Amino acid sequence: MAQGKAILYDSSKCSSCKGCQVACKTWNNLASPIEKNAQPWTGSYQCPPDLDTHTRLVITFDEKPREKYGVDWAFGRRSCMHCTNAACVMVCPSGCLFHDEETGMVSIDNEKCIGCQYCHSACPFDVPRHQGVSFMGTEAIINKCTGCIDRIKNGRSPACVSTCQSNALQFGEWSDMLAKAKERAEVLKAKGFDAAQVYGEEQMGGTHVIYVLKYPLEQYKLPENPQVSPLIGAMNWFKPILGVGSVALLGGLGISFLRGVGYKRDEMHYDELKHDIVDLDTGEVIRHIDKEAGER
Ligand code: SF4
Ligand code: SF4
Ligand code: SF4
Repeated sequence: MAQGKAILYDSSKCSSCKGCQVACKTWNNLASPIEKNAQPWTGSYQCPPDLDTHTRLVITFDEKPREKYGVDWAFGRRSCMHCTNAACVMVCPSGCLFHDEETGMVSIDNEKCIGCQYCHSACPFDVPRHQGVSFMGTEAIINKCTGCIDRIKNGRSPACVSTCQSNALQFGEWSDMLAKAKERAEVLKAKGFDAAQVYGEEQMGGTHVIYVLKYPLEQYKLPENPQVSPLIGAMNWFKPILGVGSVALLGGLGISFLRGVGYKRDEMHYDELKHDIVDLDTGEVIRHIDKEAGER
């Protein structure tokens, strides 16, 4: 069982106001590189469409048109899950990604990032984002949620939690957040939401972001059974013996292999590269996105 702290996200209470997204950017000084009104309409109210080097948190929208009028909404939280068995930490050859011992959150030391992107390949939730490589004076940047450990260490809750008006986000001891999540899932089930469930108790050894999901898992685009590749476990074992350089090489070979077999993508319900945009009034597919074929 995981220990330390956790963020609880209750999807059934989230109003999708996106205040948490804004608070995250404000506290972490993450300005958008996109010009005002330059974000193209994607057919969804989710914005931005995904995480990037300037965005650590996105509220996801699952929008299903009703038979007659209106839309059924399912809101989710897309950000780092702060896994106990964190594949990103295991695979990172430079020590840039690390567990904070007190809280269990997975944070980053950007000065150590070499831009290898192994963590992105290893993460079953497809979270870390990068820019550049550390080479001949250029700097690499990795970005992902740090758990706001800078705030936690000073007795405050994470910025996203502190701004949430609907109490969809809470912060506290891991065991307390899990107990609250279970209690809430039971309430939802009693109200007729049969698929209500807790996500994060078992996944990846217990995650430090725990979800209460109101609807079936696929509406939140979460992998059913996220795993750390056994190959990554073996690399981690060799780290203290071989040192950073050798593990980086070994890691490179391993990740190339993992990319080849696509173990992660098979479990994802949502494919960033290929997906449909649906007309919310008619339910018809109005556009098929296939980035591999060059369409955006
Ligand atoms: S601030 Fe709270 S209610 Fe608003 S989008 Fe974030 S989690 Fe949902
Ligand atoms: S914990 Fe901090 S860094 Fe992570 S999503 Fe919330 S505000 Fe952003
Ligand atoms: S969600 Fe991905 S980036 Fe976050 S701790 Fe887990 S493996 Fe690492």
